[in-house]
Amino acid sequence: MTQVARAPRPSREELAEISAGLEGRSAEDVLLWAGERFPGRITFASGFGMEGCALIDMIARHKLPIDLFTLDTGLLFPETYELWKRLEQKYGVTIRAVRPEQSVSRQAQSEGPALWERDPDRCCDLRKMQPLRETLEAFDAWVSAIRRDQTPERADAPVVGWDGKFGLVKINPLVRWTSEDVAAYIKAHAVPYNPLHARGYPSIGCWPCTTPVKPGEDPRAGRWRGREKRECGLHLRPITQT
Ligand code: SF4
Repeated sequence: MTQVARAPRPSREELAEISAGLEGRSAEDVLLWAGERFPGRITFASGFGMEGCALIDMIARHKLPIDLFTLDTGLLFPETYELWKRLEQKYGVTIRAVRPEQSVSRQAQSEGPALWERDPDRCCDLRKMQPLRETLEAFDAWVSAIRRDQTPERADAPVVGWDGKFGLVKINPLVRWTSEDVAAYIKAHAVPYNPLHARGYPSIGCWPCTTPVKPGEDPRAGRWRGREKRECGLHLRPITQT
């Protein structure tokens, strides 16, 4: 996607007004608005969850000028890498790989082996947060696949807000959706999704930090199981309309 000049930063009042206006609109309407408001300056970082696959479907079907990338930690499940290829082939899009500075083996040399077992926050910082921060510097807005009902930290997420952590506008087209809404969309539009979901993995991240969940467990209970950590940090701080 061709990069264009940085757009003026929306004011606090403008963002609040826009978010209120989009609150009742469909996810596709929100994406259409976003593509028009930030052409060439907006990106979507997908982790290939079902929500992300649904958004890729919408972006591709409407040919929206929204860049697509994924944080390739080098530690994704083989099924996730396979899904990445299937999505690119089905929709004729490129989902760019954004990778950390160090390969997994180089990180083992510099930080010691299996950093995720000793210090998962540092591992996420090196393999996700730092490359994400550098990538987002080139954009004025990014789309996320978060839903309000996923975690307490996401419960207040606006449709459109200012992401103070990364310094750009954050657009959340699916905030009002439930997991049932997502599943219905995936089925209705025959969107490819990760086969691991059917094997007890409702939320899928890096393989060392993801386990299946038992019936009745929180869908994110399999992420960093046995630790306080619940988020990799991308969406940890609630975004605001300011
Ligand atoms: S999810 Fe686990 S393996 Fe992946 S970057 Fe974070 S700590 Fe490292």
